[in-house]
Amino acid sequence: MSNFLQSYSTLQKAFLPETFAISSPAEVEAALIEASAAFIPFAKKTFIERAVFLESIAEEIMNCGDALLQKAHEETALPMARLTGERGRTCTQLNLYAKLLREGNWCDAVIDTAIPDRQPLPRADLRRMLQPIGPVLVFGASNFPFAYSTAGGDTASALAAGCPVIVKAHESHLGTNAMVAAAVISAAEKTHMPKGVFATLVGTGPALGQQLAMDERIKAIGFTGSYKAGMALYITATQKRKTPIPVYAEMSSINPVVLLPEILAEKTTAIASALAGSISLGVGQFCTSPGLLFAIDDAAAKTFAQELVNALKAVAPATMLNPTICHAYYKDKASLANQENIQVLFEGNNLEENHQAMPALMQTTAAHFMATPALQKEVFGPCSLLVLCKDITEMKAAIASIEGQLTGSVYGNETELKANENLVDHLQQAVGRMIFNNVPTGVEVCNAIVHGGPFPATTDARTTSVGPEAIRRFSRPVCFQDCPDALLPLYLRNENEANIVRLINGVLTKASVATI
Ligand code: NAP
Repeated sequence: MSNFLQSYSTLQKAFLPETFAISSPAEVEAALIEASAAFIPFAKKTFIERAVFLESIAEEIMNCGDALLQKAHEETALPMARLTGERGRTCTQLNLYAKLLREGNWCDAVIDTAIPDRQPLPRADLRRMLQPIGPVLVFGASNFPFAYSTAGGDTASALAAGCPVIVKAHESHLGTNAMVAAAVISAAEKTHMPKGVFATLVGTGPALGQQLAMDERIKAIGFTGSYKAGMALYITATQKRKTPIPVYAEMSSINPVVLLPEILAEKTTAIASALAGSISLGVGQFCTSPGLLFAIDDAAAKTFAQELVNALKAVAPATMLNPTICHAYYKDKASLANQENIQVLFEGNNLEENHQAMPALMQTTAAHFMATPALQKEVFGPCSLLVLCKDITEMKAAIASIEGQLTGSVYGNETELKANENLVDHLQQAVGRMIFNNVPTGVEVCNAIVHGGPFPATTDARTTSVGPEAIRRFSRPVCFQDCPDALLPLYLRNENEANIVRLINGVLTKASVATI
């Protein structure tokens, strides 16, 4: 077996010449030792110091210029415009966490001062805030070489929380990973972060990924990818280790879209066109791609299905991220088509030899959907299943049978949305983000966003992997009882030097403890 890996370019139909050494056991051990040693000094950095580090990473990424975009394009076949946007989004995320740190309020500082003369027992001085959890293992995602990879959301939120990060590079974009990793390390050096605060390792998934997940020095995992790999990591991290750790795995989601009958009849063409765009966007390689559509079996639904087929037929074939994902698309699409009671409404030519795909649309009945759990398996790529329901009652039942998802969309006019509140409530039970009269693709990076959802969309529905809340995944509350002021974290000391909002004796305030 060779001791290096190469990225395969689906555009060039060849391995790219650059080689990446597989991390040796000594290098893996060194990364773990250094990440552990970096933990306390990094955790002790002030929020402002960590903010400067994150801002510097964003600057260093931009300093890589077009060469970085070109490398990612060669490795992933994603168009330059998409990659330019994704790089911008990655820097926005880094700057968002920097802003959060500069404001400081995220750490949930709570102070209950001592009551020495309380009867029958005095109360101690108790102060708590969020503290970093320890070194975090992040897996680069194949479908987002920037935003969910080396310096993506998981890394940015873990570093913001004060956790050193080890990234297991994705084999699909090793060159992009190397360039971004160099940018992060350069930023760490320039901003005087401890050695070992960031490292990237190269190796084949199950072996390296499992070894790292088993290592007691790793304290949490961030992952985006397949159900199979996500669950393998989850089982290792929560059941095989001496110390179980949290795993934030985003795995499989088919993002149901419910089309209520009146709006479907009113806006048939517009809805078909929006959905065709969403299904085929990025060759369907988005975690929020709409793989499941529900409609009432009426005349409007028949017209809609035909219009959706026509719009999908007009989509040009496009190159997929890597041969494995392309092969899985054809295999999983065929297995869906071969299920009983599935009607293939449209399926483009087989272009697997060119690593390309065309969209597909299949149809079934709600009764069959509810009786066949296999129909909820993600087909990663531009494929969607239209489920026809006899009436609203059956539609509700079908929705109640849906597994956990990142998103759920409902198209309806005001009257039918109001009349079907119960259906909307059922959908909400299964999803992290409810969307009204729009498609699921497009995840805004902002304060209110939730990019998460019940299992199997993720392994932990209580949080989000996008937006400021994601920082909590890598933090834990610590309480300090009767701690001398000088030993307290800066944010809990009597003087509120950082000028953050704190809950002091039940009152939210920026005042110092002495003035309360
Ligand atoms: P993947 O196979 O899940 O791999 C993701 C990462 O996990 C890679 O670094 C991989 O390493 C590693 N890995 C694989 N098996 C592992 C194991 N047993 N233990 C520890 N680590 C392991 O995902 P992918 O390569 O990106 O794409 C494959 C499929 O994943 C797609 O066809 C699609 O179905 C799904 N996917 C879904 C989403 C989504 O957002 N829903 C996104 C991306 C992919 P190696 O690559 O080195 O083996």
